[in-house]
Amino acid sequence: MPHIYKDEGVVLKTIKLGEADRIVTLFTRQNGKVRAVAKGIRKTKSRFGARLEPFTRTDLVIYKGRNLDTITQADIVTSFDEIRCDYTKLRAGVALLDVVEKITPERERAFPTYALLIGGLRALAEGRPNVVPSFLVKLLSISGYHPQLSSCAGCDQEAVLGAFSPALGGAICEMCWRDAGDSIRMSSADIALMSHLLSSDFGPPAEIGTTIAMTQALRSYAEYHLERPLKTLHGLTAS
Ligand SMILES: [Zn+2]
Repeated sequence: MPHIYKDEGVVLKTIKLGEADRIVTLFTRQNGKVRAVAKGIRKTKSRFGARLEPFTRTDLVIYKGRNLDTITQADIVTSFDEIRCDYTKLRAGVALLDVVEKITPERERAFPTYALLIGGLRALAEGRPNVVPSFLVKLLSISGYHPQLSSCAGCDQEAVLGAFSPALGGAICEMCWRDAGDSIRMSSADIALMSHLLSSDFGPPAEIGTTIAMTQALRSYAEYHLERPLKTLHGLTAS
């Protein structure tokens, strides 16, 4: 096995290590989620500069260590500065990075997830509407948590859908809603849009109430199935 490998990745998060280093979590094209040390990055004259900040897409050279890998080179492909400069985009972007970090196992190659992450950040940078619910529904689907949205997740009938149940696995009908304890009331139009987001590109625009309803329903769904809170998605109101 070679001790040095090249890859490309998006920085999901960084945490301090010791006096001058950071552990950088990246989602990479070839190796999935990778944690690696960036030595000396917190020194003022670090050769890494701002190349390993969250959101940045970078070309990497990584040394494979026995415990943790070490980043030996990083070159910016895209910095996604448009996301950092706008508070609404920044909050939405932080939520995208957080959910990818929490839903993906380490070192499991998943190119569809990588492509979705790049697409989501690009859509956010461009100011496209409905990025967060579009991203969430697609990410859940490709990560093994596909929500049922076109027929009732409770009884499988093609009835009018009027609620969303994380435990039952998607949208449910009026009959099932009476028995489902954890369900969230949603209009059939909002459920239909959520289903449309699953198969379409980012967007289309929707009323702010619809965006919030979809985001919060998908947040509950993700929290239920991942069995952990996704705090960055709480109270998100736009994008
Ligand atoms: Zn039903």
